[in-house]
Amino acid sequence: MIEKRTGCLIGGQWRAATGGGMLPVVDPSTGQETGAIADGQPEDVDAAVASARGAFDSIWGQTAAAERGRILARLGRLVERAVEDLAALEAGDVGKPLSQARADVQALARYMEFYGGAADKLMGETIPYLEGYTVYTLREPHGVCGHIVPWNYPMQIIGRSVGAALAAGNTCVLKPAEEASQTAIAFADLALEAGLPPGVLNVVPGLGEVAGAALAAHSGIDHVSFTGSVEVGRLIQQAAARAVVPVTLELGGKSPEIVFEDADLERALPFLVRPGVQNAGQTCSAASRILVHRSRHDEVVEAMAGVYRSLRAGPALDDLDLGPLISAQQKALVEGLVTDAGDLTEAARGQVVEGAPAGGNYVAPVLFAGVPAEHRLAQREIFGPVQVVIPFGDETEAVAIANGTGYGLVSAVWTRDGARAMRLARKLRSGQVFLNNYGAGGGVELPFGGVGLSGHGREKGFEALYGFTRLKTVAAWHGE
Ligand code: NAD
Repeated sequence: MIEKRTGCLIGGQWRAATGGGMLPVVDPSTGQETGAIADGQPEDVDAAVASARGAFDSIWGQTAAAERGRILARLGRLVERAVEDLAALEAGDVGKPLSQARADVQALARYMEFYGGAADKLMGETIPYLEGYTVYTLREPHGVCGHIVPWNYPMQIIGRSVGAALAAGNTCVLKPAEEASQTAIAFADLALEAGLPPGVLNVVPGLGEVAGAALAAHSGIDHVSFTGSVEVGRLIQQAAARAVVPVTLELGGKSPEIVFEDADLERALPFLVRPGVQNAGQTCSAASRILVHRSRHDEVVEAMAGVYRSLRAGPALDDLDLGPLISAQQKALVEGLVTDAGDLTEAARGQVVEGAPAGGNYVAPVLFAGVPAEHRLAQREIFGPVQVVIPFGDETEAVAIANGTGYGLVSAVWTRDGARAMRLARKLRSGQVFLNNYGAGGGVELPFGGVGLSGHGREKGFEALYGFTRLKTVAAWHGE
């Protein structure tokens, strides 16, 4: 049983926010307030950064890489053991169906296992150089890293950013999203239990424009990783520019799946629908655009429509296909976009289950067919359970449409033509390309990140460790 905390974690101590303010915790499945968490202030961010600096300069800086790895691996096991408690917290905060919340806990545990194992395998190299010299590189941690995390996949995003940062030897200040802070707080408590020294991981819950802005602009941090919207990503990059610190931005997307005339539709079908409606469409890598060769457009739409008609949205604890959206505001936004799309052909709609609480933010998933590539629903990130099917004529047109939104996070190609698949893997403008699958099971081993408006820098996989280190070159002259 994990202990339910509500405050800031600074220097290994739980404390109230400066001024004692609290923010409500609201369950999106019911609209009811279920608790409160600390409303962290800039003073709390100052204290957290000072604590992280102290821990970096002392204990964490002197902890062997193998020992850092052992602590993270232990933390992963504690996370796994707390799966039911953590999943219930996440379902209550985000509204995601319980089994999806459990999968997120497993992913968090797996990140700790992966980065725990990687901590002592992060190496520099020797460089052949002039006679009389030995030259090598060292990978050093940045120091204090700031992590600003959104509400849609808190545990997964904490796993991939905080896990990698700690493994590489950094100390961290984590600012979770105001809508969903409870698993971040519980995770930090488990980290203490796993033996992470006080001050190595600090947590300041609070509002983005207060605690988040104070963290991004703080002169005491050495790196910022931000996952969230494009608008806030721009602010973060500007704020970090003042202290000239590196930034990793994981932003939004409008990810395409391209279905060619020779695609295996039976295999593709679950991968076309699920990644579009998972987490009620509130996924940065949601497959929100399905590009289909004109010759198979109606067949693909009919197959997807069949699945759509069976989709049900309801309370997180009922564990259906979809939960509610995060807020009433997001529900109104998505419903408004769907209503305004009156000029489009609605191919199918799922349903909100009878008896779903009136205060919950439920939206039935909607599939549109025959959508022009330049239509606003085919261009903007919706962050709701809405997919558009866009017809195309040939490979060149498919690539142009796929690359035509400004975003570039994930893309997929469905074809039996191996050469075409390889050609498109090169031409598609995105951080990940999936050939005859989508998402590859979410693998923590697979580097992930964006191009263009989707951001820059890479998280996940071993690659993330490079982003959380800086390279030093040592050139030693010892004579011939
Ligand atoms: P958001 O940008 O509003 O908030 C994200 C985080 O930033 C929260 O912790 C918030 O408190 C904080 N924040 C808000 N304003 C801030 C400010 N002025 N200064 C500093 N911090 C601030 O995003 P959101 O609505 O929570 O998340 C949805 C967006 O995130 C979508 O666009 C989605 O695509 C994107 N996202 C991307 C990924 C990815 O890996 N690429 C993953 C999840 C979500």
